[in-house]
Amino acid sequence: MDCIFCKIINKEMPTDFIYEDESVVAFGDIRPSAPIHYLVVPREHIQSIIYLQKNHQEIISKLIFTAKNIAEKFGLKGYKLVFNVGREGGQIIDHLHLHLLGGWKNEAGKINV
Ligand code: 5GP
Ligand code: ZN
Repeated sequence: MDCIFCKIINKEMPTDFIYEDESVVAFGDIRPSAPIHYLVVPREHIQSIIYLQKNHQEIISKLIFTAKNIAEKFGLKGYKLVFNVGREGGQIIDHLHLHLLGGWKNEAGKINV
């Protein structure tokens, strides 16, 4: 399978992880859309939210808690958590990931991911 994020997870593509454990990794987006832009990614190759099964409830929860912990580490008072879902939803990489975006100076971060 030719999946960039699987390659990153398997360390076939050098990428610094800001966080990793047995089920998720997090790393900086290569083309940041915000001053702080991390991707939180399950180690399991799940194509997108569209392909979620009931047994994925735990991993989805894990992605959100991981993003929350990273945001707290950066002292972010507000931020965006975004899943792009399918091509029509702007998803380019077909390996589920949660975008953590923040760090804007003004109060309302108005951006499109
Ligand atoms: P999507 O549009 O699929 O939700 O977002 C995929 C994100 O992955 C994009 O923001 C893109 O900049 C990022 N990305 C694509 N390829 C790489 C890569 O090789 N390394 C990193 N760190 N990010 C990537
Ligand atoms: Zn993958």
